[in-house]
Amino acid sequence: MLIPNSQLCQWVAESSVRANARNSEHIRQIIDTFEHTGLVVDSNSEKSKCIQNIANAHRELIVGSAYSELERTVIFGVSAPQCDAFPMYYQETPCIIVFDGLLQLVRFNTDLQILIALLNEKVTEQTIDVNGEGMSIALAMSLAGHVALTESIDTGHQLMDITAVLGPNAMQRSEYGYGAAVIFYVLHELGHLVCGHLDQGFVSERMSIDTAVREGINKNQKMEFEADSYALSCIHPNVRNPIISSLVFALGPFAFLETFRGGLDKNHPLTVNRIAELARQVDFPDEPELAEAVLSVVTSEVNRFERLAEDRRLNDGNIQQRIRNTMTLPMAYETMDKVGNHIKENFGTLDF
Ligand SMILES: [Zn+2]
Repeated sequence: MLIPNSQLCQWVAESSVRANARNSEHIRQIIDTFEHTGLVVDSNSEKSKCIQNIANAHRELIVGSAYSELERTVIFGVSAPQCDAFPMYYQETPCIIVFDGLLQLVRFNTDLQILIALLNEKVTEQTIDVNGEGMSIALAMSLAGHVALTESIDTGHQLMDITAVLGPNAMQRSEYGYGAAVIFYVLHELGHLVCGHLDQGFVSERMSIDTAVREGINKNQKMEFEADSYALSCIHPNVRNPIISSLVFALGPFAFLETFRGGLDKNHPLTVNRIAELARQVDFPDEPELAEAVLSVVTSEVNRFERLAEDRRLNDGNIQQRIRNTMTLPMAYETMDKVGNHIKENFGTLDF
């Protein structure tokens, strides 16, 4: 199935209706790129096949009814830096468009979160010199990751590959987390289609990173919660519990960014709240250890958010500038290199 470029441009333009000025400018650039390349959205393209293969590979995780819904839906992967996915109808066929930026973001974040967890376990005291200040290696890596993620969203900058320092078990866990995250996003967009959100005034706002908002549930945020619940209900009950920790990787990049800069747009609930809500919907009658592990992930996300919320309050709602003053993009890359070399010299690779 082919979708003409003009149609994609129109969708992207329509979805920017409520976006702020800076975001609109970003969208304009994306539309320009599409127009200049004459790109046609093709369900047989390499990018589209890649997403479809992930969905197929996870077929056994998904309940039958959800899989039939998914089979009726055409999934497109698009080579564009946007960190987004959205649902649409084209000639009455339900479609899900996934931009490459989202996949890169999830890949990078999945590796990064695993790496930070392993670093926190192994190097508690060691510091690295960032801008003349000693900083714990794990914190330096976390800040560098934040800067790299932010810049990639702002500029479409390619994220660096940090998998080289992960051992085989960590790699395997990262691969699983990445796959579960991607399928969750696909199911979330399917949820918008199945729940009829497109007829209810749903707006797929492009990520608007400069908009810090206080949490208040509006109609669109309710639809986002609804699509999350739908996605969760699509996961087979037998595997719903183990999958829940991987969902943190699906939402993790946004939770991670929000801890530093507040809510990302007006139409999505705060990510910590999305994670908490998903965790609330999972039942762990015979698995107290897993229940505890999930609760501790949610609690640590919430705590991190609250710690930095106070910091943001003291800094006019945004600590972005302070982070940028502490660590610029070149420094973030340098820090990641330094930490990478430190790991190679001292541990070879990091693994579970
Ligand atoms: Zn959504």
